[in-house]
Amino acid sequence: MIISYELGNSLYINLTNRCSNACEFCLRNGEKDLGAEHWNTDGDLSGASALWLEREPDVDEIIADLRTRELSKYDEVVFCGFGEPFTRFDDCAAVANRLKRCGVKIRVNTNGQANLIHGRDVTGEMVGLFDVVSISLNGKNAEEYQRVCHSDYGEAAYDALLDFGQKCAEKGMKTVFTVVDLMSEEDIKLCGEIAAAHGGTLRVRKYIE
Ligand code: SF4
Repeated sequence: MIISYELGNSLYINLTNRCSNACEFCLRNGEKDLGAEHWNTDGDLSGASALWLEREPDVDEIIADLRTRELSKYDEVVFCGFGEPFTRFDDCAAVANRLKRCGVKIRVNTNGQANLIHGRDVTGEMVGLFDVVSISLNGKNAEEYQRVCHSDYGEAAYDALLDFGQKCAEKGMKTVFTVVDLMSEEDIKLCGEIAAAHGGTLRVRKYIE
């Protein structure tokens, strides 16, 4: 079971396959030996293999795994999962809390639906733990998002992820919305405006075949 792995100068934590979306471009739809698109933002999966978890590691197992790593050599630790890391929000927060004691910079790559998944606003609990929040925007409106991402929450997911991002930004976390480079330039520009209106910036990710 691969719990953590290196990509570039970052250490990634893989803690769940579960997700509230079923994105059409998700690599979970294909080979189970590659990672989900939303968390791999650089298109380099050379360090990732066999990431599909037959069972989810518990917090103690994750921390034990991280203890084998030389954390100071990484620019950041990234919660990503093969699926949506914040389906296990409390466990992510517990692990992040331990990592923060080592002075590590922490990012989460998320679909931004944690508040829907958990039925509460979790952004206040993220303060001091997560430095960067990367949220998959993937569309210029709710209809477009749902057509591609097929959220369990329907079109409500789009406004929820924007609200989640805005709350993160308001609480001082660096908030980055992301889209895939399959969009038109016009739509990317619009998504940039949407990101800015919610306190974030936009990052255009490379699509992984
Ligand atoms: S949000 Fe990420 S993990 Fe979930 S289905 Fe979409 S690409 Fe896959």
